[in-house]
Amino acid sequence: MTIITRFAPSPTGQLHVGNLRTAIHNWMWTRRNGGTFLLRLDDTDTQRSREEYAQGIRDDLDWLGMTPDDEVKQSDRFALYEQRFEELRAAGRVYPCYETAQELDLRRKVLLGRGLPPVYDRAALNLTADEIAAYEAEGRTPHWRFKLDHDVMIEWDDMVRGAQHFDPKLLSDPVIRREDGSWLYMLPSVIDDIDMAITHVVRGEDHVSNTAAQIQMFTALGAQPPTFAHEALLVGSEGKLSKRLGSLGISAFREQGIEAISLIALLARIGTSDPVIPVTDAEPLIESFDFAHFGRAPARFDEQELALLNQKIVHMLDYDTVLTHLPEGIDEAAWLALRPNLEKLSDVGNWWRIVTGPIEPAELDDDDRNFVASAAETLAGLPFGEGIWRALTDALKQSSGRKGKALFLPLRRALTGLDHGPDMNALLPLIGREQALTRLKSH
Ligand code: GLU
Repeated sequence: MTIITRFAPSPTGQLHVGNLRTAIHNWMWTRRNGGTFLLRLDDTDTQRSREEYAQGIRDDLDWLGMTPDDEVKQSDRFALYEQRFEELRAAGRVYPCYETAQELDLRRKVLLGRGLPPVYDRAALNLTADEIAAYEAEGRTPHWRFKLDHDVMIEWDDMVRGAQHFDPKLLSDPVIRREDGSWLYMLPSVIDDIDMAITHVVRGEDHVSNTAAQIQMFTALGAQPPTFAHEALLVGSEGKLSKRLGSLGISAFREQGIEAISLIALLARIGTSDPVIPVTDAEPLIESFDFAHFGRAPARFDEQELALLNQKIVHMLDYDTVLTHLPEGIDEAAWLALRPNLEKLSDVGNWWRIVTGPIEPAELDDDDRNFVASAAETLAGLPFGEGIWRALTDALKQSSGRKGKALFLPLRRALTGLDHGPDMNALLPLIGREQALTRLKSH
C-alpha cells in the first residue's frame, strides 16, 4: 500500500508548535514509508481564512525542509462537497434542523440538569411537512445534521491509542452545514480524505470524537475509513499550551535564530519514549519513527530545552552546511574555532568581530600591562603559524615565571578584549601576526 497523508491546518492564523508537531509526524511517517505528504488548507471559513496565512504555512514548511508533495484548498472544492452532500441527502443520511442556538442550548442544559448526556434528541427528524413549511414561512433556513447509524458500534484500532469503541447512541448527530449553507469541518474533511485517497490520518486527540462520527461518514459515502493516529496534545512547560505559545508563530523561532532541524528534533520526539537527541539531519529520526512509541500523556514543550538542543546542534554543524549563512571571510578553520562558543548560529558575527576587530581594549593593571608589552616582543621574535599560542605561552612562562590564569588571562584580554571565548590555540592564528602585535602593544 502506498501511504498518503495530509496535514490539514486552517489558514486562519500562523502555525504554532502544536500544529507543527502534527505536521512533523505526518511527514515523518510518510517519509519513513516512501509515501505522499499533502497539504490540505481547511479554508471553508472564508471569513477567517487568509491567503497570507496560507503563504505563511507554506513558507514554514519549506523552511523546515518539509515541502508537501502537493496542495489542495477546500475553498476550491465546494462543488464536490455539494455533490456528495446530495448523495447523503438522497440516502436519508443528512437531515434539516430548524432549532436556534438558544433552543439547543436550553435543551442541553435541561439534559445536563437531569444528569443525562447532552445528546441531540433528533427532534428535527419528527417535524411534519406543515411544521417545516411554517419555519420556512418565518424565514428560517435549516442547518443540517449527519444521521449516525445507531445500530452499528463504532470501532477502530488507533495507531497511538489502541482499540477504540464508541456507542453512536451516546453521540449527537453532528451538524455539518450551517443555516447559510456554509460547511463545518466534519463532512468536507471526510469527502477530501476519500477523494485524495488518504491512507493515514494523523492528528491531535481533540479530534477523537469527531473521528467516531466521521467513520460513519466514510461508510455512508461508500468508502473504507483510513487508519487513524490521534496523538496526545502538546502543552507548555507550565502545564498547558499558554496563550503566548499557542499564538507564537513558527517564524518567531526562525527569527530567534533557532535552526529548523532543532524544532524538528524536539517536536518529533517529545511525548514519545524515544529520547530527544541532537541531530543535524532528520534521517535518524525518520528511521526510528514509530507511533507505538507515542505516550498517552501530553507532550511537554519547553523553550529552554529547545534553546539547549539548538546549541548542541549548532556545535555539530559542518562548515558546508552553514557556509551560506556565515559572514564574509569565515573559512573552515575559523568556523571550527568559533563554533563551540555559539548558542545560536547568528552569534557567529559577534565572535568573528573579535578576530577581525576593532576590539574594545581591555582594562589591565600595571603589572599585566608590562607583561603584555613583553608578550608583544616575544611574539615578534617567533615564527607565526599553527602552534603559535603554545609557543608564545611556553616562552612567556619561562621568561616571566607566570603560569595558569596569571599567564593566560592578560593575554586573552589584550588579544580579544574579553575574559572568555574561543580556544586561543585556534583563535590566535586567525587574528594574525600584525593584528595580534598591534593589540598587545596598544595596552
Ligand atoms: N483543520 C483541522 C484542524 O486543524 C484538521 C483536522 C484533521 O486533521 O482532520 O484541526
